[in-house]
Amino acid sequence: MVYPGTVQEVQATVRWANKHLIPIYPISMGRNVGYGGTAPRVPGSVVVDLGRRMNRILDIDPENASCLLEPGVSYFALYEEIQRRGIPLWIDTPDVGGGSVLGNAIDRGVGYTPYGDHFANHCGMEIVLPSGELLRTGMGALPGKDGADNPTWQSFQPAYGPYTDGIFSQSNFGIVVRMGMWLMPEVGHQSYLITFPRDDDFSDIVEIIRPLAQQRVLGNIPQLRHVIQELATTARPRSDFYSGTGPMPREVIREHAAGLPVGDVAWVFYGTQYGDPGSISKQLDMIKAAFSRIPGSRFFLPSDLPESHYLHSRVSVCSGVPILRELDWLNWVPNAAHLFFNPIVPTRGWDARIVHDIIVRLHAKYGFDLLPTLCVAGREMHYIVNIVYDRSSVGEKRRAAALMREMIAEAAAEGFGEYRTHILFADMVAGTYNWGDNALMRFNETIKDALDPNGILAPGRNGIWPRRFRGKGWEIRGREVEEALDGKGIGPAS
Ligand SMILES: Cc1cc2nc3c(=O)[nH]c(=O)nc-3n(C[C@H](O)[C@H](O)[C@H](O)COP(=O)(O)OP(=O)(O)OC[C@H]3O[C@@H](n4cnc5c(N)ncnc54)[C@H](O)[C@@H]3O)c2cc1C
Repeated sequence: MVYPGTVQEVQATVRWANKHLIPIYPISMGRNVGYGGTAPRVPGSVVVDLGRRMNRILDIDPENASCLLEPGVSYFALYEEIQRRGIPLWIDTPDVGGGSVLGNAIDRGVGYTPYGDHFANHCGMEIVLPSGELLRTGMGALPGKDGADNPTWQSFQPAYGPYTDGIFSQSNFGIVVRMGMWLMPEVGHQSYLITFPRDDDFSDIVEIIRPLAQQRVLGNIPQLRHVIQELATTARPRSDFYSGTGPMPREVIREHAAGLPVGDVAWVFYGTQYGDPGSISKQLDMIKAAFSRIPGSRFFLPSDLPESHYLHSRVSVCSGVPILRELDWLNWVPNAAHLFFNPIVPTRGWDARIVHDIIVRLHAKYGFDLLPTLCVAGREMHYIVNIVYDRSSVGEKRRAAALMREMIAEAAAEGFGEYRTHILFADMVAGTYNWGDNALMRFNETIKDALDPNGILAPGRNGIWPRRFRGKGWEIRGREVEEALDGKGIGPAS
């Protein structure tokens, strides 16, 4: 590990790596749990932990409603500083607020206020290229007066010429050392929950969400969860409810859900509306009317539910207050670790059903409980599956890996691909985006080889291998993940 404290030290690290041909792997805070954490893809890499010492909030501009951050600024740190200064602005936080604002946006993570698409709400970057050169994107490329930063660096994203920022997200083309983010002006808000009684209501719920989201009646990206998540977010272990092996039977879930505040239901929709009380009330009338088409649906406000209920945590997250409550579902099994499977699916009942059925069938085949959280927007939804397994069990790890591989392949065969994945599955997911005889990967490799001819920066990240490593046995396209668990390691020697 190295802990640079300045941009110059990052540049020195990159030049050192080029000189000795040693791979380096940048992280901001490394809380990428479920996607590989701090781990580099190539064993023997030097992890460049930017966050440890480069953790300054460089600017908060209350008028422009923006900030400029170093990689080590966490959601908690940014939130606390804005509170300390009494500025009426919100941050947008993922479900767990312990990570880096910059790192999450680089990995195109999501949150739950109207500013929840983090990369879409970044504005301007400063990047150390694999050569050690320094680049500013957006309006930052135009020097401000007398050597100052450009006054519109955090105001206008694209500037002039090709829009370069995108290629520095989910890639290994540069080390981002500064990033601007937009902040949301404080506003009134009302979180709520709607339950639906039948598993088969799933397609109808999706069909109702689509027009509401396209018309922007829904205030944020709402979450649709299966009722098993109501059990998991109590923080109680699965063994409190069921001692058998394999997925928890539906009737067992039903029996225990019946004793919880929202009762024996199938699906739970968590939404939040924004604005003044009058407009929130009108929005809620429209939403209730739309969902009432599903017989037996029920509407709850936070005041209808006990303080311990998860809806109260959503009130925080959906108004930009970072918390850690979501970690509770990792109590589900002992020694829990987890993998995320995240296909992008059209917001259409029929398509959603295809993916849902694949996921249900394969979870049953590999003996895992299905813990789904669907983040549903107007045209697509992130169908997020949390595979929770006991990390002390090689057998469970192997089954979890096989489940991931099979879901990636089956979803791709239907035309559905992941928006983000764990480093071990990066080659497989990247390999599914193969239209035109792998035209996209050839394009990425062309950029990689031009910017990083020595192949020192995060080889294999997002499935992009530099020429020095490419085709030499590093790629993981099949059973290598499970084989690595047998102690064979991952790489050409294995
Ligand atoms: C219970 C639970 C719930 C979660 N909910 C969410 C959620 O709602 N939304 C969500 O998005 N995520 C969620 N996550 C996943 C994860 O915890 C967050 O995305 C977290 O913010 C990522 O860690 P980080 O911000 O510290 O980023 P890092 O780990 O620092 O960065 C992520 C990756 O981006 C690259 N990178 C980082 N910094 C740089 C840089 N400066 N230059 C170049 N490349 C860089 C690296 O490849 C790194 O591995 C959840 C995880 C758990 C366990």
